[in-house]
Formats: sequence, structure tokens, C-alpha cells
Amino acid sequence: MRLYCQPKIDMKTGRISGAEALVRWAHPRLGVITPVHFIKLAEQSGIITRVTNWMLNATMGYLRGWQESGHTGKLALNLSAHDIRSPAMAQRIEDQLDAWGVRPELIQFELTESALIEDPDAALAALSRIKACGADVFIDDYGTGYSSLSYLQRFPIDGIKIDQSFISPMLDDPDSAVIVRSTIELGHALGSQVVAEGVENVRVWQQLTEHGCDQAQGYLISMPMPIEELARWQSRGERV
Ligand code: C2E
Ligand code: CA
Ligand code: CA
Ligand code: CA
Repeated sequence: MRLYCQPKIDMKTGRISGAEALVRWAHPRLGVITPVHFIKLAEQSGIITRVTNWMLNATMGYLRGWQESGHTGKLALNLSAHDIRSPAMAQRIEDQLDAWGVRPELIQFELTESALIEDPDAALAALSRIKACGADVFIDDYGTGYSSLSYLQRFPIDGIKIDQSFISPMLDDPDSAVIVRSTIELGHALGSQVVAEGVENVRVWQQLTEHGCDQAQGYLISMPMPIEELARWQSRGERV
């Protein structure tokens, strides 16, 4: 496994606000494999728990380093439906933060709607625990699952990430543009932060800024990179 990450930019300041941790499989023959090809399988077989544990463990050292060097960025980890059903996961998160002495405000968790829908009671219990230890929770791929506004009402979430399938066609497809704009308004009205994923083009960035979107992530800013390379971005501290 390799720990990659992709920066998130604060659209108001143009500065890096954090990054999303993304797993890669460094295959001896096939090279670096993106998770699109193996996360589903890992979920079905339950191996995903080991992937998540590996990610959690691998990110802690970096967070500790960020904390010591005074960087303010947050690192977001993806949790799967499987993870959220297991009460052991929330415990493991607390234990790791404790063991590494990492402030919980530095870590965020991204959960898809489908992870929440599979077992809403278990998800609520796990989320409440994660929130209680001080980490933020975001709904991932917002709009693609069995989207229901009741999630926004029921779950203690801090933000939503609008899926790239709405962001990419924004300029040519008026329906997507309306959905994005209304989602930003809705998120803000509920006190949530709104992140756009898959921002590939400067005109999309401009429209999102006009609509008041908080953060952006995508190829326009950077491709995912090995996490070691993020340090250069953080220390530059310049505006994008
Ligand atoms: P996601 O959470 O929606 O992550 C964003 C994906 O979009 C990443 O793909 C990223 O490389 C890609 N992306 C970012 N910017 C752009 C852009 O501007 N244009 C386009 N076309 N794509 C962009 P990646 O890294 O291949 O990850 C795919 C999915 O695998 C993620 O989707 C996430 O659901 C899952 N995943 C990744 N790492 C983990 C992990 O550690 N644990 C779990 N449970 N799932 C993970
Ligand atoms: Ca994600
Ligand atoms: Ca997505
Ligand atoms: Ca809220």
C-alpha cells in the first residue's frame, strides 16, 4: 500500500486547507493501481478494515509532523460502510489519536451516503463517537447515492463534498449547475462546509467561487501525489 493525497484549497484565501488521503496499491508487476479497481472487492471481502487500519496508522505520523511544524491543514480519511458498522473502528480511531498525541481537529472522515444507509443506527452510533472525540465528518460523493435530505437532518455532519459527476458538467449542463448551486446554499443554510471535488477547469473554479463554495479539490489544483510531496505545498504557503 502507498499513501497518496490530494490537496484541498480554501477558495476564499486560495491557500491549502488540507488534503484527502487516498490509498494506492503498489503492485510488483502491474505498477501503481488506483482504488477504483480494488476498493469494492476489499469491501465485499471485509479486507477493507485492514486497508482502513493501514491508512489510519500511516496518516498519524504525518499528522504528528504537521502538528509539530505548525501546519494547520487537515487530513481526510475515507471510511467504508464496513468500517462504520464496526464499533471497534471508532475505538481504534480514538486509540490511534491518543497513542500519537494527535489533536483530533486535524483529522476528518469522509463517508458516502450508501455507507450511512446500510445500517443507519450503527452509522449514527459510530458517527456520534467519532464526533465526540473531536474529528469532523463529511458526506462524500454527495448526490450520487440514494440521496435523501434526511441524512443532513439526522446525522451530525460538518460538511458535504459534492461529487465530481455534478461538478465536471457544470459549464455545459444547466441542470448540473443548478444542482451544484442549490447544494451549496443548502449546505450553508444547515451550517455545513461545502467542498467541490473534480474541479478540472478554471471557469468551474470561478463559478464555484461565485456561488460561495468553501473548498475545492481536483486536477486543476493538483493530481493525487505521494504524501511526502505535500510538505512542499504546505511550506510554500502561497496562494493558488
Ligand atoms: P473519492 O472519495 O470520490 O475520491 C476522489 C477521486 O477522484 C480520487 O480517485 C481522485 O484521484 C479523483 N479525482 C480527483 N480530482 C479529480 C479531477 O479533477 N478529475 C477527475 N476525473 N478525477 C479526480 P482515486 O484516488 O482513484 O480514488 C477513487 C475512490 O476510491 C475514492 O473516490 C474513494 O471512494 C475510494 N478510496 C480511495 N482511497 C480510499 C481509502 O483509503 N479507503 C476507502 N474506503 N476508500 C478509498
Ligand atoms: Ca473521498
Ligand atoms: Ca467522488
Ligand atoms: Ca451542522
